[in-house]
Amino acid sequence: MATAGAEAALADDGAAVSPRGPMLGLDIGGTKLAAGVVDIDGAVHGFAVAPSEPGRGPGEGLARLFELGRGALEDAGVAIEAVGIGCGGPLDSERGVLIAPLHLAGWENVPVTDLASAAFDRPAVLDNDATAAAAAEHRFGAGRGTRNMVYLTVSTGVGGGVILDGRVYRGSTGNGGELGHVTVDWHGRECRGCGRRGCLEAYASGTSIAERAHEAGLEGVTAADVAAGARAGDPVALRVWEETCEALACGITSLANLFEPELVVIGGGVSRAGEQLLEPVRALVHAQVLEPAERELGIVQAALGDSVGVVGAAAIAFERLAPGVAVGRG
Ligand SMILES: [Zn+2]
Repeated sequence: MATAGAEAALADDGAAVSPRGPMLGLDIGGTKLAAGVVDIDGAVHGFAVAPSEPGRGPGEGLARLFELGRGALEDAGVAIEAVGIGCGGPLDSERGVLIAPLHLAGWENVPVTDLASAAFDRPAVLDNDATAAAAAEHRFGAGRGTRNMVYLTVSTGVGGGVILDGRVYRGSTGNGGELGHVTVDWHGRECRGCGRRGCLEAYASGTSIAERAHEAGLEGVTAADVAAGARAGDPVALRVWEETCEALACGITSLANLFEPELVVIGGGVSRAGEQLLEPVRALVHAQVLEPAERELGIVQAALGDSVGVVGAAAIAFERLAPGVAVGRG
């Protein structure tokens, strides 16, 4: 089994030993591949990025990803304990297989942990990239020390991950935590990601912000332009921005009622607007959320930057190698 080798290591006396790392983190994005060696404190060494060019197929793409990984290892000059891989779904995190990632057309049923394990002679684990980013923010970033945390990445699309009782929530096969497809208006806009109507992603994503601005009469603007326009007091940009905050707050309120997290961490490109986004969202959520959740709930910006994919991939390796965490069907 691909992940059978990733069971927690045993000391001579048979006691389980917590992973010390460092881990090699590999991130398979639709536009970029990234690799880096991540130590137990979350510091990244030998970080390297290359274009994904997914159309050239998984064989070629993974060969370049592993080459990037070998370069990172050489730069870092250390031996790694395991390999963590983050990728968009659908995937099977238990078996370590990319089923048919939406952003990698033609990459179907790729046994990526087997291949990585063979390439680096170490155990390898796979998770959804947003789940991995949630693990990264929980272990090394804004969510450190929390027991229950929701992570949302608001970017081209909207993704997320959930930490429950200190552990990463995955669902049955690792595709749980698709927070972008929480419904905020069931008769609403069509969702590009899943085809249903009124998903959070259909309102809060950067793509939707630009689209709704266009529909409102602003020509050729990006989500960042809309944020800037709203700051400058442009009434159309302001309206689009307010609708974005309302949709995001509606989705977060449902998530807060569902999970009662101490903290909601928001990352992704749209979150770079900072308090312009967070302040109104916080006010709307606190006005709507059921009372016990309201008492504890914080809503903050993500702490990790562009390396979050690589740090997340490593974070899931740290998590899944820990004693008592099941990593495969054996
Ligand atoms: Zn959807």
